[in-house]
Amino acid sequence: MEYQIDQVIHGFKLCHKEYLKDIQGTAYYFEYQKTHTPLLYLSNQDNNKVFHIAFRTPSNNSTGVAHIIEHSVLDGSRKYPVKEPFVELVKGSVNTFLNAMTYPDKTVYPVASTNDKDFMNLIDVYLDAVFYPNIYKNKKIFEQEGWHYHLENPNGTMNYNGVVYNEMKGVYSSPEEILQNELFKQLYPDSIYGKESGGFPDDIPDLSYDEFLNFHRKFYHPSNAYIYLYGDGDIEAHLKYLDEAYLSDFDFQKVDSQIKLQPYFSKPVESSSYYPLSGETQLNNKNYLTIGWVLKDLKDDWLAFDILTNILLGENSYPLKKALLDLNICEDISYSYTTSVRQPYFAITLKNMMDETENIDRVQATISNVLSRLVEKGIDQKMLEAGINSAIFEIKEKDFGSYPPGLMFGLELMDTWLYDQDPLSHMRMDDAIKHVKAMAENGGFERLIDKQLIQNHHCAVVTLKPDPGLASKNAKALSERLEKYQSSLSDDEIDGIVKDTKELLAYQNREDTPENLATIPKLELSDLNAKARVPQIARGMMDDCFVLWHPAPTDGIVHLKFYFDIRTVAQEDLAVLGILNKLLFNVRTDRYAVDEMDQMIQIHTGGISTNLEVLDDVQSEGQYQAYLSIGGKALIDQIDHLLELLVQGMTASHFDEKEIIEAILQEHRTKFENRFLTSGNVLASQRLQSYYSQSAALYQQLGGIDFGRNLTAICQDYDINFDDLSRKLLRVYRQVINRNHVKLSITCEPVNQNKIYHKVKRCLQSIDNNEQTLYSYHFETEKKNEGFMTSSKINYVTKGFNIKRLGYDYKGSLFVLKTIMDMGYLWNRVRVKGGAYGTGFSVSKAGDLIFTSYRDPHVANTLQVYDEAGKYVSEMQISQRELEKAIIGSISTKDHPLSLAMQSYVADRQFLTRQTPEWTQIERDQILSTTVDDLRKCGEIIDAAMRQNALCVIGNEEKIRENQERFNELTFIQK
Ligand SMILES: [Zn+2]
Repeated sequence: MEYQIDQVIHGFKLCHKEYLKDIQGTAYYFEYQKTHTPLLYLSNQDNNKVFHIAFRTPSNNSTGVAHIIEHSVLDGSRKYPVKEPFVELVKGSVNTFLNAMTYPDKTVYPVASTNDKDFMNLIDVYLDAVFYPNIYKNKKIFEQEGWHYHLENPNGTMNYNGVVYNEMKGVYSSPEEILQNELFKQLYPDSIYGKESGGFPDDIPDLSYDEFLNFHRKFYHPSNAYIYLYGDGDIEAHLKYLDEAYLSDFDFQKVDSQIKLQPYFSKPVESSSYYPLSGETQLNNKNYLTIGWVLKDLKDDWLAFDILTNILLGENSYPLKKALLDLNICEDISYSYTTSVRQPYFAITLKNMMDETENIDRVQATISNVLSRLVEKGIDQKMLEAGINSAIFEIKEKDFGSYPPGLMFGLELMDTWLYDQDPLSHMRMDDAIKHVKAMAENGGFERLIDKQLIQNHHCAVVTLKPDPGLASKNAKALSERLEKYQSSLSDDEIDGIVKDTKELLAYQNREDTPENLATIPKLELSDLNAKARVPQIARGMMDDCFVLWHPAPTDGIVHLKFYFDIRTVAQEDLAVLGILNKLLFNVRTDRYAVDEMDQMIQIHTGGISTNLEVLDDVQSEGQYQAYLSIGGKALIDQIDHLLELLVQGMTASHFDEKEIIEAILQEHRTKFENRFLTSGNVLASQRLQSYYSQSAALYQQLGGIDFGRNLTAICQDYDINFDDLSRKLLRVYRQVINRNHVKLSITCEPVNQNKIYHKVKRCLQSIDNNEQTLYSYHFETEKKNEGFMTSSKINYVTKGFNIKRLGYDYKGSLFVLKTIMDMGYLWNRVRVKGGAYGTGFSVSKAGDLIFTSYRDPHVANTLQVYDEAGKYVSEMQISQRELEKAIIGSISTKDHPLSLAMQSYVADRQFLTRQTPEWTQIERDQILSTTVDDLRKCGEIIDAAMRQNALCVIGNEEKIRENQERFNELTFIQK
């Protein structure tokens, strides 16, 4: 049906409609008349439907009120009076996305599903949550999610506790977050962006329950909401539902949520502060420096500025990044640019920088010299072409991985919509591309540099220095603050806090009643597809080379991937292979210098990447394969260029440019060290597996903690090490890139298959096919039970073992158990009560059973929760309805729609790990037919794995030392 402008449908008046080529659909812009709520419907054929409701939520302090509300509204509502409807939905829905996000100026509640019934269920739970949450009736929600005084007995020591409080403590353990916060404070001192919407840990306890409720009352009203729908849904049915079920119950209310503009500076500002760093580390190269600008009146130039940042800093060889690296004063440089704030900003950050003050001047002078030169002499046309082409490729490819495309469009729209500008202005990609192409021809990019960076005095220079004593100083200040408060209380008041604490714990321990749980809508098992998704894949040969073909509607894009068997490399050279992986396509080749290579890749391709993959065989215990994979993608008419570039990188690379290689290694070293703070759960669980598994021990050399140590060692004595490294790199490179030991994966449209076949075949001919011995590796494994100590406040706690080695088999019920553990047992004990930001249980198909926690304040308590899990599972009481929910939730993760690139990636992995279609179907059958008894039997498996007592923890120095007796080795990490 065609809607007319000004037509009113269920209370919604159509104000604007427009065909959008890029989403192959029509945008309808409505306004709900009674409350003036805007609604944007992007209607197309995509069945991965998306809904979000967003509110403008500016806050003028750093108590984190917006963030705490975001958590709290999902803790029960009028129609859904359970403790955590969100968690119940995750368990029993086939959603393809379900989350909530707090930004500096808005809070967004998105859901997505390919199933109509499920989609409506999700929307209803979310709307009831945001408009009718139980937070007014139940103060415990505020205490649990925000903060409370925690005191379990009158003689104990009082603490702050709360989910958001702990989450933000974790966030502010990272120097980069502290730096970001400081930059915002400096750039936007008079606007809400100068505050921390997530909550600054010291400020969170200043938030009162009343202020919390008032914030919800004021901002969570339809007159302050933005509703977005996307996909192939029934527009009229959706409007009718929104009208009848929610919006008609409200009247228009004037909500003052305007985001005030930050007045522009007339001259730059500077600031300097400290971050905690413990241990006896060298401090002189641990500084951070960031220089940020608030951009002025960007309007149509939003895409051009994005391209400009890439041209300046996208690769080590690009002019601004190169000039800064050449100063030799830092290990890594990054940049950020966002239009998701009312006044967009751009910032350049130097990490692990030397301490001398004059370096700040040198950095500023370098930036200003490079920019002035570019404006004066004009930007190289090839550079512009590279920047523009890579932007166009990204726009065309729309590869959002496992995220629903509609979700990403919806978030993008908010960049203008929230500020009362045309919500579609970033969606008209043809116009945007035309605009940047014109700018490239008429000096527009040079004018952009001049206006936004050279002439722009709204700039802040922020430095952050390490302070070894700061962590303990802060901890001391906090405990003094609490002690002082505690000693000021009368015995009655203390008893009151103990009573509140106990009541909160009792509330958290109480299970929802079956009647309340039954309010959460769920699908039936019969709504699920019984057949496992089987990837379309064809096998073939190209001379002696094995090829996996993935036919797919790629819109003219071709994906190629070479899998080189690494066993051509000797065990003692594996560390070198790890480094080679970081250097390929970033060093000079016979034909191209590094900067030329970078440009050619951007002009002609959608990118080239390399990776080291160790893949466990799912059918035989202890077997694995390991590859150096090299992938590239391009439009079909650029395939010759793509292949030429691949051949250059794979056969004609040189490893003799000392400085260029040093810069790359330093950058990766810094990134690796940061991982101890940001993704310690991944590092720790990989490490844990290396205590008993050969494949995991191999991965330690290629990309794990052993690799990181090797990198640090090389960087420390780089001048002495370089010649030897260079020689070894060349040797390993020649061994591993070998035509006799390569598999190929090709994704393209079937019509292009023939053309590609012949071209790729020719490309293969240029790869060496020397006879190579295939080595077999053996690693001495031992249960090291390591504790890696950092200056961070939080921990990553892992424990596990391989169940196949203990005589058990992987089966589908373990996958269902994961849903129950993640969203039930672990969620309640480690997250809600323990205060960790995240926690998980998993059993890989190869049999690795692992518990992990993420940004966790505890060590011993968490390990105890893991140890008791087996008993819990053996005695588990669970209704048929709850079991079905878990089965549905588990299956839904298997059926997630994936981008084309992801589909090929998954299909390759399934093939290489021998997850045959039959194997996958058996697993699905097992999941669908899981009984409570099957689940209980898993308790014994967990117990057996925990009894092996293999654990690895990355985290807070004092916490780890407190638990010394649990570890065999303690190691200090310099971060
Ligand atoms: Zn949060």
